[in-house]
Amino acid sequence: MLNIVLFGPPGAGKGTQSDKLISKYDLQHISTGDLFRKHLGEGTDLGKLAQKFMDEGNLVPDEVVIGMVDEKIKAHPNVKGFIFDGFPRTVKQAEALDELMNKKNTPITIMLALEVPDEELKKRLVSRGATSGRADDQDINKIENRIQVYKSETIPVADYYKQQNKFVGVNGVGAINEIFEALSKEIDAKA
Ligand code: ADP
Repeated sequence: MLNIVLFGPPGAGKGTQSDKLISKYDLQHISTGDLFRKHLGEGTDLGKLAQKFMDEGNLVPDEVVIGMVDEKIKAHPNVKGFIFDGFPRTVKQAEALDELMNKKNTPITIMLALEVPDEELKKRLVSRGATSGRADDQDINKIENRIQVYKSETIPVADYYKQQNKFVGVNGVGAINEIFEALSKEIDAKA
């Protein structure tokens, strides 16, 4: 199995590159942001719980996220692999993911980290906010808070995978296809 953690700050292009990697490698997408937005749209209890965190650009509590991912993994027992997008975002989530994948005997293959400078991220998120309808993309304070939360809570997740020799950084600035080629090259070298 090929199990990828696609990592990077908000606005790094994880969603865009996920779509392309899913088609190329036939993977099951697990995007916690998309899953929360789906719950929000359907007005489920989980959606209501997540909303107040998401609206401020804060992280939804670990137990909630981990439970949701566990369920999603179990719903796809026969896939060729998973691509985790926007998860894990804390070391606790990374540890929980290792436990879930080890139980299945299918560990994480690689963490691909898209590297993009802050100024470029802000520009991208503001312009996405003009069309995405996402409340968290429409307020510069919320955007800055998400980047801050990324630095304080999520960056340590990269160290977690570095210790396992699974971390690979890729430049996330440039043409979408060039970035995709760079990611594919790293996957092919590791798989
Ligand atoms: P972005 O990467 O653009 O900030 P996402 O779509 O990945 O957006 O996530 C949107 C929001 O959903 C986050 O700001 C956070 O509130 C919540 N969220 C998504 N994934 C996680 C996660 N793994 N842990 C905690 N909260 C999460």
